[in-house]
Amino acid sequence: MNFQFSPEQELIRKAAREFAEEVVRPRVQEMEEGQYILDDLFRLMGEVGFLGVLIPQEYGGTNLGTLGAVLVVEEISRISAALGTGLQVHCLGLLPVVKFATPACKEKYLPGLATGKYIATGSITEASGGSDPTTMSTVAVQDGDSWVINGRKCFITLNKTANTTWVTTCTKEGKRREFTTFFVDKSMEGYKEGRLENKTGMHGLDNGEVVFKNCRVPDTNVLLGVGRGLPVALTAIGRMGRMGMACAALGTIQASLEAAVKFANERVLYGRPIAYLQGVQFKIAEMAYLLETSRLLVYKAAWLTDQNMPDAELAPKVAMAKYVATQSAIKASDLAVEILGGYGVVREYNTERYLRDARMIWAAAGTGDIMQLTVAREALKLK
Ligand SMILES: Cc1cc2nc3c(=O)[nH]c(=O)nc-3n(C[C@H](O)[C@H](O)[C@H](O)COP(=O)(O)OP(=O)(O)OC[C@H]3O[C@@H](n4cnc5c(N)ncnc54)[C@H](O)[C@@H]3O)c2cc1C
Repeated sequence: MNFQFSPEQELIRKAAREFAEEVVRPRVQEMEEGQYILDDLFRLMGEVGFLGVLIPQEYGGTNLGTLGAVLVVEEISRISAALGTGLQVHCLGLLPVVKFATPACKEKYLPGLATGKYIATGSITEASGGSDPTTMSTVAVQDGDSWVINGRKCFITLNKTANTTWVTTCTKEGKRREFTTFFVDKSMEGYKEGRLENKTGMHGLDNGEVVFKNCRVPDTNVLLGVGRGLPVALTAIGRMGRMGMACAALGTIQASLEAAVKFANERVLYGRPIAYLQGVQFKIAEMAYLLETSRLLVYKAAWLTDQNMPDAELAPKVAMAKYVATQSAIKASDLAVEILGGYGVVREYNTERYLRDARMIWAAAGTGDIMQLTVAREALKLK
């Protein structure tokens, strides 16, 4: 067993921490006050190589694998879970292009996805219910050597900021519906953003509808193949989305612990810092366990992904990591709010933001209930 990061992973983690401290921290307030993820932050993340962590070097990426992506998203999320989530969604959006696109589609998009010319997202959820995508009503109909998409997706992260998305559609109706996933860019007529949601947390992160109205997409932009759209979406969500949200949780737990430790050492009651109160120590200890257990599960799931573990075996590992990290972030940020007493709910101390952001993670990329089902199915050996 080897718990050591490679020199490249250490370097990218250090670079991400410096970027988060120097470039992101001064912008957090601006994002909190409603400025959707600032385009220049994405451009800067492209310049330092973060946007291309999953992209092969031949297309201009840094190709540091899932563990590399996990370390960057965690470090950015320690300062801003909104931007960390934005970055992970970009990775989720481009992963099917790396894995399943035609050579023409790779040539066209991957270099720009590595630099920030293109920002990606993934679109599968519809108002009919995200946990059961087979009920979707977005359709694509073949017309010569292209396809025409009509429909509306909801809850899409970066719906305004992203100028590309994969979109899963129904391409054959009937008793056994068939689905196909396409890669679409905003220069194609008929693809645009719809309304934005007003959310509890991650205020800098745009999230809302994307609309397809007679949107024409060339055949070359079919991912994996006609009728194989669900595996494309599930690979992106399973190999990046759930892990990415777990990393947003890790960053939130780390930030909560740091805020609580700082306050406990500075706040004096009964003649000495509250860090000496046993009740406070118990809460700090619990936060430390929550961080360590979540990290071990998330890093292991990322490592297994990089070992190319088959999707069916990987899914419960990733689900367990996402579930534990999410519950831990909710608990740890709540404990931080308590340790700060009245200051815990004062905005400038940030702990109330961590709690609001932690709550955002539960449903994204599959709810906690769906994670539990995935873990239980494996434990019970159900087919
Ligand atoms: C911050 C955020 C970002 C997101 N980003 C994206 C994105 O970029 N792209 C995208 O396509 N989607 C995105 N989503 C959508 C997300 O994937 C869905 O919200 C999620 O899949 C749940 O779907 P739903 O909200 O329609 O809830 P529903 O599926 O309607 O679920 C409602 C309730 O029923 C429970 N439930 C459902 N099925 C079961 C079951 N079998 N057993 C027990 N309980 C069950 C759920 O856990 C939940 O409590 C995002 C969501 C959020 C909150």
